[in-house]
Amino acid sequence: MKKPKFVIDQMCGRLAKWLRLMGYDAAYFRKIEDVELVNIARRENRVILTRDTGLIKRSPIANGSVKVLLVDSEKLDKQLKQLVKYFNLKCNNDLKRCVECNSELEKISKSEAKDKVPLYVYETQKILSRCTSCGRHYWRGTHWENIRSKFEEICYK
Ligand SMILES: [Zn+2]
Repeated sequence: MKKPKFVIDQMCGRLAKWLRLMGYDAAYFRKIEDVELVNIARRENRVILTRDTGLIKRSPIANGSVKVLLVDSEKLDKQLKQLVKYFNLKCNNDLKRCVECNSELEKISKSEAKDKVPLYVYETQKILSRCTSCGRHYWRGTHWENIRSKFEEICYK
């Protein structure tokens, strides 16, 4: 199965960050009309993730031309567990997607990273990536342990 792509309604914003950390394409807009959300989903072949039962009554969704998943819980962990199970998502972060803007990351060499990241990062990290759109740099820093334990929690328990 092809990797699913998502568009996330404003009620589930934190989901976007975690899906991106897992390497999935997760579009999110702080403020968006239902019509626009549906249009994006249809145009870009994305599954809508929402907690809005009103939204799923809209015609392109009701007739099946746009896919939607109703998110059960308000709690992030439960939301992620639901998605992992439903879409059979993989919880591995290989620094593929920008958490901030959802664009793809590219690996960069140590010499390219020099002067762009803090010195201790340059000296200690083997893998460095850069967002192809906003230019933000990524590496597996001290926060990485927290991310990994969260992945274990949601994916393997
Ligand atoms: Zn970015």
